[in-house]
Order: sequence, then C-alpha cells, then structure tokens
Amino acid sequence: MTTTYGHNTLFKDLAALLTGQLFLPDDIAYEQVRQLWNGRVKTHPAAIARCLTVQDVIHTVRWIRAQGLPLSVRGAGHDFAGRALSENGVVIDLSQMRAVTIDPDARTAHVQGGTTAGDLIEAAQKYGLATATGTISSVGMSGLTLGGGYGPLTGAYGLGADNLLSAQVVTADGQLITANVEEHSDLLWGLRGGGGNFGVVVSLEFRLHPLTTVLSGMLLYPLKQARAVFRQFSEFIATAPDELTIRSGFIQTPGGETVLFL
Ligand SMILES: Cc1cc2nc3c(=O)[nH]c(=O)nc-3n(C[C@H](O)[C@H](O)[C@H](O)COP(=O)(O)OP(=O)(O)OC[C@H]3O[C@@H](n4cnc5c(N)ncnc54)[C@H](O)[C@@H]3O)c2cc1C
Repeated sequence: MTTTYGHNTLFKDLAALLTGQLFLPDDIAYEQVRQLWNGRVKTHPAAIARCLTVQDVIHTVRWIRAQGLPLSVRGAGHDFAGRALSENGVVIDLSQMRAVTIDPDARTAHVQGGTTAGDLIEAAQKYGLATATGTISSVGMSGLTLGGGYGPLTGAYGLGADNLLSAQVVTADGQLITANVEEHSDLLWGLRGGGGNFGVVVSLEFRLHPLTTVLSGMLLYPLKQARAVFRQFSEFIATAPDELTIRSGFIQTPGGETVLFL
C-alpha cells in the first residue's frame, strides 16, 4: 500500500468500510461534492467520505487517525471561510445525514449532524413547534449551533446553542459519547457556541417551543435617513417586547443604491 496523497490505493480500505461513498479527486462527481456555499473556496481535500451512518463516521475517524491525515467535518457547507474542507485532508461529509425526529410531548427534536435549519423547521411546524434557527433555511444546524446561532426567534428563545439539550459526538479517538447535563457536561458546555472541533457531532437534541404564527418583514430606508432611523430604533428597542427581534444592516439594491434595512 502506498501512502502518497491522491493515490487511490491508499483509500481503498476506507471505501470498503463505508456504507456511504468515498469521492477522490479523479472521480467525475468530486468537484460537485467539494462545492461549498462560498464558491470561491478552492481547498482540495484528498478524499471526501460521504457518511450515511454513525458507524461510517466512527470508521472514518479511526481510519484517518491511523493514517495520520488531516481531517475536517462538513455539515451543510455554509461556513464562509470554507473550514468544512481541509487541503489534502479527508472530509467527513454529513450532508446526507439529515433525519429529524420530533417528540411533541417532550417538545424536543433529535436531528442528525447534517440537518439543515429548513429540515428542522419543516418537521417541527407540523406540531406547532419551533426552535431558534438562523434566517436561511439551507444553513446547517450543527455549524449554526456550535457557533452560537442567532436568528429571528432569538429574542424569544435565545440562541440555537441555548436550546441544545444534548449531542452525540464521535471523539478524535473514534469513541461515540453523549454530552448532556449529566454526562460529559463540560463537552456540552463547549459545544454550546465553542465553534466546533471538539469532535464530530452526529446528532443533536433541541428544545422546542410552541409557535404557530410569526409576523415578519423587511423595512428599507435611504442611506441619508440612517442616522435618524438608528436613533429612533435605539429608543424603541429599549422597551420593545422580547419576542421582537430586529436585525439591521446595509445592502445594495439591484440598481446599486446602498440602503439601510431593518
Ligand atoms: C447565507 C448564510 C446565512 C447565514 N445566516 C446565519 C444566521 O442567520 N444566523 C447565524 O447564527 N449564522 C448564520 N450564518 C453562519 C452559519 O451559521 C455558519 O457559517 C455555520 O457554521 C454554517 O454551518 P454549516 O453546517 O452550514 O457549514 P459547514 O461549512 O459545513 O460547517 C461550518 C463549521 O462547522 C463545522 N461543523 C459542521 N457540522 C459539524 C458537525 N456535525 N460536527 C462537528 N463540526 C461540524 C465544520 O467543520 C465547519 O468548521 C449564515 C451563513 C450563510 C452563508
């Protein structure tokens, strides 16, 4: 067996361990599988292991460790810096592990590590339930929560991380552990906004809240009114109810004009 990166022989053993698929740079689908939300990321991993089961993840972590190769984890691929990929490393791709289970009585959701915000919202809303997610449905719940996770419901329910009750994690030595308030509570603390890298999160449990109606929208103002709008905004928000979440910023209209949005 050779240990030269990019040489397919090295990866035959790993491919044989997976129920999912292994993509190598020579494969036709590699370039498509490598793509992230930020199309400018040019990082080229030596292999992408598209995992379908927790066992796939465990096998891949152990194999990568034995080979001494760099490892990265890919959820839904929205990190702007492209940290889901590592140059010449092996990617544990969770993008197909998106199952969601709702317990309407306990008001909890169990989601797999590659679940997007949209997957969770869709499953929970059938029961009139919701949790704190971001504004864009294609963002991954793992990446969002591990980094904190703010969104339209943050005023009412806190950050995504505040609603994380437990997580199943494959550690660097390939063990599957559960982190909750009773077991590995220090790990749960780290997962709640610590930014990842504590292991591969294969599932997360979120607290859900009853929610059937949301009123939302966008207000746009000419740039020259920005100072006056922000002044009024800061007075208004001081006494506004917690349920009201307002985000602000500047965007360009299709015509190229910079405007203030609330
Ligand atoms: C269009 C857009 C809108 C956004 N809107 C919001 C928003 O409203 N609120 C907000 O808080 N953030 C927002 N973000 C930021 C987003 O939450 C983060 O970039 C988040 O890390 C993306 O997660 P991902 O799984 O999609 O991305 P990925 O690139 O796949 O992963 C991001 C990071 O998390 C790690 N990671 C992912 N999954 C796992 C896992 N299961 N186990 C261990 N590590 C993992 C990856 O290795 C990588 O370092 C937005 C980003 C974009 C591009």
